[in-house]
Amino acid sequence: MSGGERIVVVGAGMAATRLAEWLAGTHDVTLLGDEQHPPYNRILLSAVLEGTHDPAAIAMSVPDGVDLRLRARVVEIHRAEREVELADRSRVPYDRLVLATGSIPTLPPIRGLVRVDGRLDGRVHAFRSLDDCRRLERAVPGARNAVVVGGGLLGVQVARALGVRGLDTEVVEGGDHLLRSQVDAKAGAILARDLGRLGTRVYTGARAVRLTDAGLVLDNGYTLETDLVVLTAGGRPSTALARRAGLDVRRGIVVDDRLCTSDPRIHAIGDCAQHGQQVTGFVPPAWEQAGLLARRLRGEDVAYAGSRNVARLRATGLDVAVLGDPEHTDGEVVEMSNPVAGSHRKLVLRDGVIVAATLVGDLSRIGLITQHYDRGTVLGRHEAGALLTAERAAAPVVLPDDAEVCACAGVSAGRIRACASFDQALDTTRATTGCGGCTTAVRELLREGALV
Ligand SMILES: Cc1cc2nc3c(=O)[nH]c(=O)nc-3n(C[C@H](O)[C@H](O)[C@H](O)COP(=O)(O)OP(=O)(O)OC[C@H]3O[C@@H](n4cnc5c(N)ncnc54)[C@H](O)[C@@H]3O)c2cc1C
Repeated sequence: MSGGERIVVVGAGMAATRLAEWLAGTHDVTLLGDEQHPPYNRILLSAVLEGTHDPAAIAMSVPDGVDLRLRARVVEIHRAEREVELADRSRVPYDRLVLATGSIPTLPPIRGLVRVDGRLDGRVHAFRSLDDCRRLERAVPGARNAVVVGGGLLGVQVARALGVRGLDTEVVEGGDHLLRSQVDAKAGAILARDLGRLGTRVYTGARAVRLTDAGLVLDNGYTLETDLVVLTAGGRPSTALARRAGLDVRRGIVVDDRLCTSDPRIHAIGDCAQHGQQVTGFVPPAWEQAGLLARRLRGEDVAYAGSRNVARLRATGLDVAVLGDPEHTDGEVVEMSNPVAGSHRKLVLRDGVIVAATLVGDLSRIGLITQHYDRGTVLGRHEAGALLTAERAAAPVVLPDDAEVCACAGVSAGRIRACASFDQALDTTRATTGCGGCTTAVRELLREGALV
């Protein structure tokens, strides 16, 4: 149904779809997406590659009444006419335009990736879209081994998925440890050891420089023989359209506290947007921005003040959660590392308050730690240490109602407890629909309620 303003969204990815969900029924919403598939949960692509999720299971629902157009690439914004132009030269008018164009993978400087005819070498794969995932999936049965270039969250997820599929997999990371944007060297080493235990070798401090018939050549002289090369070494906000339209663009499309670009009729949300110095690249902030923009478009006077960092690794047999920016936040560090068991837990505290945290290997305390982090609880002298000890971690945790359970959709334990079933929790709160890392916690909260 419509009646409100015509909202046209460029991109039909995770931020756009969530915005459409919020606005359906009050606004006339059109989603213009250049992919051929209906919207899907991008986080779960590695689960599809791994074989634990069917592509149909990662579809995101688009409400009735939303005009979803697929294979609709927007090539120009005509601001004066308030119209966007598609690749087929047709135009779509808008009252308000929302840019949700996501990010694009960067091609690392490796000679031989691109053939003389301008196409990627047949062994080389990107991993950003469902099409990329399907192409890689098709190549897996004929391959014995794979090298993943990039040891960030995405690289580790993909490497693990290929390992689960039975490929002899190696990861090459130019920095001195895995996940170097999120965790310290100690945590990175523990993760590398965990990956090794699961059968994946990790080369850190080494750069891939050339792809030859013999394999991928590293700058330390080694050549990794490989049938597949998967590029996961970073991405950047997709800003070309905004730049061409003359909007203010720095690293991302610059937005203010109203999520307005330099044109007040045009908004930007998700991976393509830059608020202050912050460009995000994760689902929780993308969904937070979508929710806030929907409220503004419905007339509420709410302001965006930036998102907190929450990163979670989704891979079978590997658990990592990061709150804030533990590597660049000053404070007192309380940590506990057990490389033998594959766990590392670190809290950064300022005046007794948790200002950042890293958990590798054991996330049983993540709910409680997140709650203290969000509330700014002042911890007693022994409390931080107690939060990290194995004995305490093994004990069952009763989460208070305001503890956040689902970081992707921002859902508290109390909201889950108020639901009668898992399906109701999913429908009314959208918990578990992002990375899915909270599924066990949600089921436990509902079980707890059933016992009362
Ligand atoms: C494999 C993978 C795993 C990930 N894992 C995690 C994770 O575990 N946790 C986490 O928080 N985040 C994860 N991310 C990041 C997360 O997916 C993104 O932060 C999120 O998708 C951002 O949503 P978005 O809508 O801004 O961008 P996207 O979901 O990327 O959607 C943007 C869409 O816009 C389309 N588009 C671009 N330009 C145009 C145009 N001109 N016309 C029409 N359409 C256009 C693109 O094709 C794309 O479909 C992962 C990403 C990948 C690729």
